[in-house]
Amino acid sequence: MKTPRWPSRRTFLGNLSAGAAALLLTRRADAQGAPPAKKLGIALCGLGGYATGQLKPALKLTQHVELRGVVTGSREKGQAWAKEFGFPEKSIYNYATMSRLVDNPEIDIVYVVTPNSLHPEHTIAAAWAGKHVISEKPMANSVADCNAMLTACRVNKVKLSIGYRLQFEPHYVELKRLARDKEFGPFLKMTGGLAFTVNRRVWRVEKAMAGGGPLMDIGIYCIQAAGMAADTTGTAQPVFAPVAVTAREHPKTRPDFFRDVEEGIDWTMEYANGAKAEFSTSYNASGDRFRAEAAKGWIEFAPAFQYGALKVATNQGPLGLVVPPSQQAVQIDDFARCVREHRESPVSGEMGRRDMVIIEAIYKSAAQGGKRVEVKI
Ligand code: NAD
Repeated sequence: MKTPRWPSRRTFLGNLSAGAAALLLTRRADAQGAPPAKKLGIALCGLGGYATGQLKPALKLTQHVELRGVVTGSREKGQAWAKEFGFPEKSIYNYATMSRLVDNPEIDIVYVVTPNSLHPEHTIAAAWAGKHVISEKPMANSVADCNAMLTACRVNKVKLSIGYRLQFEPHYVELKRLARDKEFGPFLKMTGGLAFTVNRRVWRVEKAMAGGGPLMDIGIYCIQAAGMAADTTGTAQPVFAPVAVTAREHPKTRPDFFRDVEEGIDWTMEYANGAKAEFSTSYNASGDRFRAEAAKGWIEFAPAFQYGALKVATNQGPLGLVVPPSQQAVQIDDFARCVREHRESPVSGEMGRRDMVIIEAIYKSAAQGGKRVEVKI
């Protein structure tokens, strides 16, 4: 096994003084674009688990954008966030008043972090208020809703991005490079899955709110990873997609609990160059792995989809790349730079729509007992 090409973040930073490590992290941030004199303003819409646990700390690290408002059903929660981030109480909105964001020049971007079924409503409201939007994944519960979101953003000349944080994670950036440069040859076999157990009756197991079960929520990460490995163009073309899918729903061990969403599902995706991806996702198992194989090498992520350090190896040894303190900070900063530089996000609304087209095809195949369904973007 060859020596890894990169030291691990811990080893590397551990050999530096605290000051030098801080300077290094700052320089890495500079490499992503020097911090502007005035940051853009962002408002979070929905202050639930992900906003609080991940986006709040991320927004304390972002170089190009700062939190200047919230949209929340709880005024008290909004006040606590306003105090912590130092924005005025007039920048606390609720879901009914968020159209008034149009009068707030301090806010350039709205980040929608509500349950899936509300992404269209909140994205469209933000777009009509003239704000650029990041919508959390999945973009919506149907392709029709994705189309409505894209139209609202196009009409209002605002940008739309999806919260696909792993597109910016260094190991996935390396996966995309390997796919583009074909260092191991094109990746022709992708496998893996993401699963955990859900025991509480939350919106994630209600079809009306979540749009589906684990496929919508976490299987989408596998769809994303396979897309990165299969795309040999290196252009992150949002319309790069499999040509067909097949799928089988798992038998329900708790049919009363998983009333109208799948408990688990296995699916395959076929790409035009013959590459094939096979995945499984479930709310009644555990697993977190992604592997891509080519004629001359392979890369394996395990865990593959976490917020923290991923463990990634290739046939040449562990990658051990330097990772940023927050995947989300990098993702949000990238979008802020896209806004400032008037360019489309590589993680665009079109990409979110593409994934919804794939998901609808997967559900269609499962409903038809595993019949091959063509993917038409
Ligand atoms: P959550 O249930 O913890 O938070 C949802 C928030 O929406 C709450 O503050 C809730 O009050 C608010 N809300 C507004 N209207 C609501 C309504 N009618 N019903 C229920 N809640 C309502 O959920 P979460 O885990 O924060 O997930 C929010 C979004 O973020 C989802 O789309 C999810 O897929 C996405 N997410 C993304 C990642 C990621 O890694 N990118 C991780 C977790 C969640």
